[in-house]
Amino acid sequence: MIKMILLGPPGVGKGTQAALLSKHYCVPILSTGHLLRTLIQNPEETKNTNTNNSNPFLHKIKKSIENGELVDDSIIGKIFKKKFSSQECSNGFILDGFPRTLKQVELLEAILRSSYGSSMITVIDMIVHEEELIKRLSFRFMCTNCGKIYNKYTLKPKVFGVCDVCQATNFTKRIDDNPEVIRTRIGVYFKQTEPLTDYYKSSPLYLKIYGTNNIEEIFLEIIQFLDAKYSK
Ligand SMILES: [Zn+2]
Repeated sequence: MIKMILLGPPGVGKGTQAALLSKHYCVPILSTGHLLRTLIQNPEETKNTNTNNSNPFLHKIKKSIENGELVDDSIIGKIFKKKFSSQECSNGFILDGFPRTLKQVELLEAILRSSYGSSMITVIDMIVHEEELIKRLSFRFMCTNCGKIYNKYTLKPKVFGVCDVCQATNFTKRIDDNPEVIRTRIGVYFKQTEPLTDYYKSSPLYLKIYGTNNIEEIFLEIIQFLDAKYSK
């Protein structure tokens, strides 16, 4: 069973690795945002976490999301606990975007202990130098027709000026990919996750990996680490 947290700033290639790992180990990617949205779309899921028929639990989540607020940790905890015991997670899971704070780390450890009898979890920490991230993100552009994302340096269309997917010839930059916005996003990320990295880095199940190598190399390094740790 693979239990894993994937940490990494925007633009590090975390989503790509999460998808590859999910497929390789047949485990779902659990992100808080995704779980909360599923919950709102399928209120059936909350039946066992709430005994009241009018479901103030669901109402509370809905309100929080609508107002752009963070959802209560205790609610997130309940959702994860239920998810861990589901069939979907029988091979394990990949956590993306949770935990974000030390308080959430404590919560997660309590849930893991009660679900599995141990709080051990693998932490894959994808890092990249800030300047490299800014370079990567600010050189992104996308096809105005189909939305395919390219990069001036790392992922150019096969034919200059023509989209690989739809053959359109118009491209645009994403508004949130300008260097200033990127710098802020990265700053927020590092400030938020630094305490987490500090907490996990002494764990034998912690792997720090540079997101600058190619996708396949990073993927192989992660599965080698996981296979070595989990075969014991
Ligand atoms: Zn296109």
